[in-house]
Amino acid sequence: MAGRAGRTGSQASAGDLLELVRSGRATTRGALQQVTGLSRATVGQRLDRLFRAGWLREGAAGPVDSPLGGRPSVRLEFDDAHAVVLAADLDTRHARAAVLSLTGEPLAEHTGPMLIEDGPDVVLGELGRWFGELLEKAGRGAHEVCGIGLAVPGPVDSDTGRVVQPPIMPGWDGYDIRGRLARAFAEHTGAARVPVLVDNDANLMAYGEQRSGYPDCSAFVLVKVSTGIGAGVVVEGTIYRGIDGGAGDIGHIRVPEGADALCRCGSYGCLAALASGGAVARRLAEAGVPAASGADVRDLLTAGHPEAAALAREAGRRVGEVLATVVTLLNPGVLMIAGDLAGTPFLTGVRELLYQRALPRSTAHLDVVTARLGERAGLVGAGGLVVEHLYAPERVEERLLALGV
Ligand SMILES: [Zn+2]
Repeated sequence: MAGRAGRTGSQASAGDLLELVRSGRATTRGALQQVTGLSRATVGQRLDRLFRAGWLREGAAGPVDSPLGGRPSVRLEFDDAHAVVLAADLDTRHARAAVLSLTGEPLAEHTGPMLIEDGPDVVLGELGRWFGELLEKAGRGAHEVCGIGLAVPGPVDSDTGRVVQPPIMPGWDGYDIRGRLARAFAEHTGAARVPVLVDNDANLMAYGEQRSGYPDCSAFVLVKVSTGIGAGVVVEGTIYRGIDGGAGDIGHIRVPEGADALCRCGSYGCLAALASGGAVARRLAEAGVPAASGADVRDLLTAGHPEAAALAREAGRRVGEVLATVVTLLNPGVLMIAGDLAGTPFLTGVRELLYQRALPRSTAHLDVVTARLGERAGLVGAGGLVVEHLYAPERVEERLLALGV
């Protein structure tokens, strides 16, 4: 939650106080007074609104020492019981969806086949149905849903939530994903429409992993190697998207060894055409090993298949060469490898080339690790994005007024 300071002077609003509590910077009435300079009475009035909305509660942990001296004060906490968030993560051939608590705990989850090539109308309609069933399974009402987060395997314009020229999402280019998913949710649950946020899957995986496992890491890079290859970058707690949502799309960097390899994007020589899960599957199939997708390669790697391991390591070396540039440019504290190929052989290959090619200073304090949340990372990131959006100080006032407090 680093990165957003909020106003802390006498202009501090209820939303700013909420942000201070949620980030852990000030968690008692006394600390809020001290940080904001507001009077005790004003802090009290603003907190009362947050209590009435059900967004804050007084902690059960007991009193803590007050920074202003005097009697110990009660610790304030974000109350995550008042709403839930829905999240979904689309891959090319399957999808994952969940009801999450506001702090990212899964309350109900479902994974099933879903073909992205069926197009947005069909896929998002089906997701609406899944959400209805998941809420029932979690025992939560549709009226409790505050928003929906969606991860997609393509570049996203975050202002509009539309995908932009996605190489592996036929029929989705420029489609109104937010509108369709909000409508599908309303149709299948009878509830009012809720806000929908859409982002790239590697971005959301990076966001989810950084927040849950490395909250103090101010420069975090995640590389997802599955059907394609993509990277997510989280700087100072915020997803770095670039000016067109194109940051991190490293799968389509041209590499010299790949001149003859045709990529799904239509070009020759892309990194993804040589070193993705799909590319490794193709190489295995050519050698007579049945494999058609990144998921098949993952199964072979889990079973310790020697040829799959050798090809995964070679793929890791190719990706590692590109990552040497990424790491030199960004100097991250953590480089996380996720997706179907994430495992020892691939990681070994990455390390071999990365440490050989990158400047020692940019790797001296670098941790190269595999994913922690695994398959759930995209969902956790999508849920987190919705919560950070809806409870941001600039949106809190409007939402409190709508609740009548
Ligand atoms: Zn390509």
